[in-house]
Amino acid sequence: MPTDIERRPGWLDRMKIRVKKTLGMKTILCDTCKWDWRSACHHSERPNATWCADYEKRGT
Ligand code: SF4
Repeated sequence: MPTDIERRPGWLDRMKIRVKKTLGMKTILCDTCKWDWRSACHHSERPNATWCADYEKRGT
């Protein structure tokens, strides 16, 4: 399980999120995450996480 420090986005990820928001792009990760169901993900950020250390794209 990642620690609190590992659970925060780095400066590059924060910048990517900011650019995506500025461009009006979708920033929510949970919609495309393979862990996006109740018993698989216990993060409080779900279903509106914009950054997540455990994110894995669905279908890969
Ligand atoms: S693992 Fe992260 S991105 Fe995936 S559903 Fe949970 S909070 Fe969302």
